[in-house]
Amino acid sequence: MHDLKRDPPIAIARGEGVWLIDHDGKRYLDAISSWWVNLFGHGHPTIKAAIAAQLDQLEHVMLAGFTHRPAIELAEALVAVAPAGLSRVFYTDNGASAVEVALKMSFHYWRNLGQPAKQRFVALTGSYHGETLGALSVTDVGLYRDTYDALLVKPLLAPAPDAHGAPGNEDAAATAIEALLAARGHEIAAVIVEPLIQCAGGMRIYGPAYLQRLRAACDRHRVHLIADEIATGFGRTGTLFACEQAAISPDFMCLSKGLTGGFLPLAAVLTTDAVFAAFYAEYQSQRAFLHSHSYTGNPLACAAALATLKIFAREPVLERNRELGHWLDQAFAPLADHPHVANLRRLGTIIAFDLVAERDGAVPYPWEERRGLDLHRTALAHGVLLRPIGNVVYAMPPYVLDRAQAQAIGAAALAGVNAATAVPAGRRVDRAQALDPAALEL
Ligand SMILES: *Cc1c(COP(=O)(O)O)cnc(C)c1O
Repeated sequence: MHDLKRDPPIAIARGEGVWLIDHDGKRYLDAISSWWVNLFGHGHPTIKAAIAAQLDQLEHVMLAGFTHRPAIELAEALVAVAPAGLSRVFYTDNGASAVEVALKMSFHYWRNLGQPAKQRFVALTGSYHGETLGALSVTDVGLYRDTYDALLVKPLLAPAPDAHGAPGNEDAAATAIEALLAARGHEIAAVIVEPLIQCAGGMRIYGPAYLQRLRAACDRHRVHLIADEIATGFGRTGTLFACEQAAISPDFMCLSKGLTGGFLPLAAVLTTDAVFAAFYAEYQSQRAFLHSHSYTGNPLACAAALATLKIFAREPVLERNRELGHWLDQAFAPLADHPHVANLRRLGTIIAFDLVAERDGAVPYPWEERRGLDLHRTALAHGVLLRPIGNVVYAMPPYVLDRAQAQAIGAAALAGVNAATAVPAGRRVDRAQALDPAALEL
């Protein structure tokens, strides 16, 4: 709130395709899909119409002892497109709570099976799984986590396989998690990962081979694999789900963000018949999974999700996204040789680079200089919404972006880099901002 005096929030009046429009009529290109949720642009007619039609029927009913057509149809539609073996759907209403559900359900599964020693969770360094206490427990981003550390369940951390570390990093990371599961599998309930890319941890991309080795190790040591596809799901990485590129099926898959095309909050946890069976017993046996939210499986949100899946079924979305990926490559190509840009990388429709003090060795700027914020301001002045994570600059645009709009994002990013790096490192500490750690996140 302190820093909003300098950067007042921009009140958005309307959305239209890739554009956000404020009350003065100024337009901002939403290059980050409103925090990665918006797939097909703002106000997409198919999704809007589906919500409106559902609104004429039923806005909400509790999902306990009652059900409704959109919840049933959506569960069937998700199972039809999900990796093989994911046959059961549990609804909730946001990403963090989907992670809570997967963690609780895995823990509870082992308890129901008479293996209560399996209580620990494994997370990767740099992982992000949400910010409620359970989700934060398996999140390894100090900015969000450190303050609450005393309240959190302690995970076992395994090294992340991000590919822009040393060559062989992925191999070493796979070997490390294999060793961890071999040594401590008897006390581990589940491993949770963001498949192919750790997003909020800094857009760190890794290859499918790691996931294949992790899946095999989980099978060997009877440990669940939770795929957090909240950010990667629904076409972001080039396939409908990132797991498909490794040809693996997780035991749990968490979905939210793009699930409703960015219209309404909804989440789903998909799991297997084996997990379902471990809970299937009469109520008095106390094996049931109890986890309820008032708005679980909301009909309007389910209708929006069904419309989103319909767009995938009817239109060549993934094909078009491949083209969009190339446009992003072309648009960001002028940044590749910039002296303050390192690790330019892309996966599907996510493109990212690191803003660095020195390109050689990717020497970072001191965090308190908040260079990413300068870039954000400059991009906004160019009519483009970019919101770096610290010094990691990325675009994750709606899939309806055209080639000229991709160029506009690249141009705004370049202008932002030039503005943010105009003053040499160490000469640009804004004390008032630097003293407030809460203001670090852009
Ligand atoms: C955003 C995100 C979450 C949390 O979802 P919310 O709806 O913001 O709670 C969890 N995991 C990943 C990978 C995410 O990107």
